[in-house]
Amino acid sequence: MRTVRVGGINDGQIIYILGVIVVFFRLLPTGNGFPVIGDRETEISESGKVENTIRPEKVYTSSMFEHWSKSGWKSPSWSYKDPAAWASLPGSFCGGDQQSPIDIVPKSSVTKAYPKFTFHNYGNFDKMKIMNNGHTVVYNLAANTPADRIPYITGGGLNDKYQFHSFHLHWGSDSSKGSEHLIKSKSYPAELHMVHYNTKYGTFEDATTHSDGLAVLGIFIKVGLADNEFFQPLVDEISNVLLNQDETTLNRIVSFQNLLPQKTTSFFRYSGSLTTPNCNEIVIWTVFENPIKVSERQLNMFRNLNDAANQQLVNNYRPAQQVKGRIIYYRRYNGCELKESWPFTSTPLLDAFRYSQCLINYALSWE
Ligand SMILES: [Zn+2]
Repeated sequence: MRTVRVGGINDGQIIYILGVIVVFFRLLPTGNGFPVIGDRETEISESGKVENTIRPEKVYTSSMFEHWSKSGWKSPSWSYKDPAAWASLPGSFCGGDQQSPIDIVPKSSVTKAYPKFTFHNYGNFDKMKIMNNGHTVVYNLAANTPADRIPYITGGGLNDKYQFHSFHLHWGSDSSKGSEHLIKSKSYPAELHMVHYNTKYGTFEDATTHSDGLAVLGIFIKVGLADNEFFQPLVDEISNVLLNQDETTLNRIVSFQNLLPQKTTSFFRYSGSLTTPNCNEIVIWTVFENPIKVSERQLNMFRNLNDAANQQLVNNYRPAQQVKGRIIYYRRYNGCELKESWPFTSTPLLDAFRYSQCLINYALSWE
């Protein structure tokens, strides 16, 4: 009897592999075209995109985004001393139903198999601008950055291409607090927010008028013993922006790639808002599970800054807001990654076999 050999695999093995794949995939609910593990999977219409279809489209103006822009902020119309008062500011959405930040409870989240993020142009940037806006320090790319070098993100369950706008931080007066998002009610000492806008709306300002206008990456910062060399360029110039509205240029190159956690494969995803007035509900939030580490000395540099009222700029985080029925999705890295191009790879069968094997191992090891 003739045995057909395909890349070292015979008929019997192929039938066995197909059987394993079919049985295993049939057992799994699916989401986003990828198999999903988890007992709490819930279908949503499209991955990562959570639209406010019930409510009418809100009208926003760019002046509402002082915190996210490098300039425009003049008088202290709000402060972190009384966040409860934000809801009664004129034109405020701070009392809405999809507010941020939130306390993330992994056990109550819904596991979802989002694809991995792709970080484009997340390379090195010279001459970034740093500005104290009275609420935080905002970092912007140099104005002459060529359009084709501007960082952007795709994947991760985002339906569109989101271009980098700016980043800023939130921190505490000491390291027992500081992050905006909480994990199981616990704070990190600080949180970095990388703000991106949906390129299908053309400009940042236009994007901020849509419920899927911004994608913000939240990166927890914890304290390590050693200085973080990649974080140091952000810290070097802080003494030149101690006062509200101070602005200067960074002398050293910032590596975007190295501001991200080592693993970006585990993250939480939900629909939320800006965390400063007017708290517009326009943000697709990604909160990475793995933190980055900086030293206490590096964090202390931020604690030297002054706010709009000329007081020490610390505890610039908004308290956790109610989840109010929102689903918090969890991309739980399981050690198995299916290629994004699957099944159009050169060896789809083998890839799928390895993937399902990996999932089986994971399922067996999962408590
Ligand atoms: Zn922020």
